[in-house]
Amino acid sequence: MADRIEELRKLFRQEIARITTPEELEKLRIKYLGRKGLFMEIFKDISSFPAEQRPKVGELANRVRNDAFSEWNTKKKEIELKKEEVKEEKEAIDITLPGKKFSLGKKHPITLILDEIKNIFVSLGFRIVDGPEVETEYYNFEALNMDLHHPARDMWSTLYIKEGVLLRTHTSPVQIRVMEKQSPPLAIIAPGKCYRRDAVDASHSPMFHQVEGLLVDEGVSFAHLKGVLTHFCHRMFGAETKVRFRPSFFPFTEPSVEVDIQCVICAGKGCSVCKQSGWLEILGAGMVNPRVFEFVKYDTKKYTGFAFGMGVERIAMLRYGIDDMRLFFENDRRFLKQF
Ligand SMILES: [Zn+2]
Repeated sequence: MADRIEELRKLFRQEIARITTPEELEKLRIKYLGRKGLFMEIFKDISSFPAEQRPKVGELANRVRNDAFSEWNTKKKEIELKKEEVKEEKEAIDITLPGKKFSLGKKHPITLILDEIKNIFVSLGFRIVDGPEVETEYYNFEALNMDLHHPARDMWSTLYIKEGVLLRTHTSPVQIRVMEKQSPPLAIIAPGKCYRRDAVDASHSPMFHQVEGLLVDEGVSFAHLKGVLTHFCHRMFGAETKVRFRPSFFPFTEPSVEVDIQCVICAGKGCSVCKQSGWLEILGAGMVNPRVFEFVKYDTKKYTGFAFGMGVERIAMLRYGIDDMRLFFENDRRFLKQF
């Protein structure tokens, strides 16, 4: 019997030495140390021995079984430790690996052009002002000399919030709001979003950006208007750019002009962008209509002024050679990352 016990110890030690996983270890426990395991079989057999032999063999069997238990426990700890080590190794930070790249955002092309426009006018002494995008009809039309039945209102057909309240069709209402609060002299620009009931196509969008400008003082003449806007065109499109002033009509200015620059695509030779004319319209302007001054109670005998308005998308398209306005608002990163 003692031989059988020693043999079992030997087998157990051989098997446990090969074990590497918790699953194998558990199987080993059941096989040797479980309730129906090999050690239990030995104890069962011992119980059939004559009484005087039992203590000695029983003591040996007990000792070997206890040894097996402690060996099994040691192995269990070993395996657990190994598992921890492997896990730690996996989770360890490898400082030799290249870092993750964070892609930085960029300014939208419209914002870039807006910044440039602002810089030019701020350097001339203009102040940047802001106004609401939801306007009343009074500020959007009436105070700008467009009463209810003025035919020009049709040009600015828009999106109404409710009776008498609308999304502003131009940034010009800001002029009125500023003049109501401030006496001349003043020189302001009002950049911002405008809305019109236009269907989306290559050159129209129901939302777009404008920059409105206004300068009022004693003795302001059309020469000042020409000087400031010519300077702007030269800074924006290059000092060699030819600028042309063409008579036009706006209800809030008199006289009014459209300002053209020589086509930046064909250098005045004529192309599809300038419709073969060699010129591109880039902004509208004029001397402030005295009727507008009357609305804000400025002394029309003392003060004169000029105002202008430009479409930011239009300028951005010409500067960057973009032929479709929709690209600005589609948020396609392939397009946006070029700027
Ligand atoms: Zn052209």
